Amino acid sequence: METDVRKNPALLKLDLYCKGVRLDDSCLVEEDGGRKILRTRAGLGSGLELLLPSGLWTNVPVTEPFAKDSPYILKRAGGAYRLHTDDHFLCDVELAPKPSWYERKTATGKPMTRIGTLQGTYLGIYQAKVCEYWVEKTKVNCKFCSVGLNLGIDDADEKSLDEVMEVIWAARRESGITYVDFNTGHYTGETYLDILEPFIRRIKKEVGLLVGIQTPPHHDLSRYDELRKMGLNRVSFCFEIFDRERFKETCPGKNREYGLDRYLEAVEYCASLGRKGPLTEPWVTNGEIIAGLESPESSMAAIDWITSVGAIPTVCVFRPLIGTDYADVPPPKTEDMVPIFRHLYEKCMEHGLPVGAAPDIHVSLVMLPEECKSLSDKRYPVGEMKLKVLGKAVRWGLEKRLQNRERLFGPPPRSIAAPVFAEPGASASA
Ligand code: SF4
Repeated sequence: METDVRKNPALLKLDLYCKGVRLDDSCLVEEDGGRKILRTRAGLGSGLELLLPSGLWTNVPVTEPFAKDSPYILKRAGGAYRLHTDDHFLCDVELAPKPSWYERKTATGKPMTRIGTLQGTYLGIYQAKVCEYWVEKTKVNCKFCSVGLNLGIDDADEKSLDEVMEVIWAARRESGITYVDFNTGHYTGETYLDILEPFIRRIKKEVGLLVGIQTPPHHDLSRYDELRKMGLNRVSFCFEIFDRERFKETCPGKNREYGLDRYLEAVEYCASLGRKGPLTEPWVTNGEIIAGLESPESSMAAIDWITSVGAIPTVCVFRPLIGTDYADVPPPKTEDMVPIFRHLYEKCMEHGLPVGAAPDIHVSLVMLPEECKSLSDKRYPVGEMKLKVLGKAVRWGLEKRLQNRERLFGPPPRSIAAPVFAEPGASASA
């Protein structure tokens, strides 16, 4: 594996997650069109959204205390942004462009960024009220999570169907999004799927975008058959930790309400639905874990299990966010993370999982399996060829669907130019 971060952007992305970056006084992020630093998405994304060489999108810690000791420093020179260490220049980077709609309000007067924000190039929406683990008398929230700290600051508490659709249209027209991701916490009565279904139906009917959800595992697994039929494209279950004792300690609410086994059961069940739903709608099941809160061996065992049932692991790097229960826990070391992310790539390829097939989705908060290729010395030419063919088919299907929706429902409200699909591998906003 190439160990020079100047020649291996995947290693740089990983190292930045673990060490953060210092901002030189010369940086003028928002004035230069960059995105404001928001503490969103279960608290895992608190940082600066950047584009690294090779088109890798990332979200780099800057506000957490550990970032002050980072060897990396971001400088501005003549309006351009350059990453340095104290001693030398490393590479040019770009600020992730701030969408024009970030400045606007919905018809109901809410700032659009309080409805949804771009995470890389997709729209992320934390739907519904705050996760109930945060509001119990004795809080049982996950200890790394900052959702209860964020809501009302960066996110709106109530988001109506019309408000969400308005922001989706804005993000579609002006940022060219192809994917919308909904995220909820735990609600008594397992109401999260009831809350999200009207949104899924309406997006599928009127816009035709790819849609995913991340919720706790509903006890009635047949609900996922319905979602699959509805055209949903992704379900994600965040069990975070594979080590049972660490899971109990870190996620007391999840442990009490569901238990690790229910998460695993839902991942396995949903992974089996790929063959059942509409062929025109791609289907992916993710099991999400956080690397750095258990041993690397345990994270790799989680990757083994998730891929063995046909699901794709989403692996976040633990970030000790300010104000959370784990704010003082040190971030993981890059050398402990590299084998985990190498394993992620190799296992996904060995199992022939459809990684990187969805068009124009660049993710800043995690390392995608396909991005970890340069952390491995193994090559999978047949698997990569199949993924290329699959990617073209998914892109073709999505383009057709989007065009059909426009034909059926007319041009989007307050129409600006229809977004153009970027070439595979290029960023939609670049
Ligand atoms: S389930 Fe855990 S991670 Fe998710 S919002 Fe609730 S406390 Fe945060």
